[in-house]
Amino acid sequence: DVTRKPIIAGNWKMNLNHFEANLLVQKLAASLNAAQLEAVETVVLPPFTALRTVQTAIEGDKLNIGYGAQDVSQHAAGAYTGEIAGSMLAKLGCTYVVIGHSERREYHNESDALVNAKIKAAFTAGLTPIFCVGEGLEIREAGNQVEHVLAQVDGGLEDLKTEQVKQIVIAYEPVWAIGTGKTATPDDAQEVCGAIRARLAEKYGSEVAEAVRIQYGGSVKANNIAQIMAQPDVDGALVGGAALDAEGFAAIVRFP
Ligand code: PEP
Repeated sequence: DVTRKPIIAGNWKMNLNHFEANLLVQKLAASLNAAQLEAVETVVLPPFTALRTVQTAIEGDKLNIGYGAQDVSQHAAGAYTGEIAGSMLAKLGCTYVVIGHSERREYHNESDALVNAKIKAAFTAGLTPIFCVGEGLEIREAGNQVEHVLAQVDGGLEDLKTEQVKQIVIAYEPVWAIGTGKTATPDDAQEVCGAIRARLAEKYGSEVAEAVRIQYGGSVKANNIAQIMAQPDVDGALVGGAALDAEGFAAIVRFP
């Protein structure tokens, strides 16, 4: 949709120390011109330990690249050893924070209720959540992907204000397509992204539904991004593996 600016975000996961992170940002900036960075909102999501370095690189050279973290605590501050508060991320200049990634849901048992609490904490800190949803292979094979994802959407957005929902980015990432080289077909991506938008329209009205950007994620590469982006309800991509290579990620950002 022309009214929604495409957003391509690179989730680096647990890769790249702060020196490597700096190098990747520099290379990325060198691979993209001003017009390309203006056409597509480009975001990097480094590990916590590289955020300060990425901030320095981006602010120092006034790069038109956004950045954010891969997780946030549901708590504001206090005795939560090992956790990172939203206010700390905001202080580092983060715009975005990934919440409810399937790897967090799977390896850290994150429930829809916890995801909801983290989304609220992110908004309280002034961060924009990239709220991840997606079905596993068994659910897909049983044909229950839409029902499953809509339940995750409902759970994650519970009790949010309409103005908050309007700002959120939702990433639809079928778990069976993450890091597997298996990409959902453009029709599969559209089916679920379209259902998410319809649900938003039903609950929050069409103005909100039309404003929210919905990303697809799952083995996105330069050679499949254009057909995925051609779907009416897909407004961007959350990219894992392919985001670790500057030229590969830049080629995805250059899709239009
Ligand atoms: C992800 O983890 O968000 C992701 C989409 O990974 P990949 O692109 O490697 O499938």
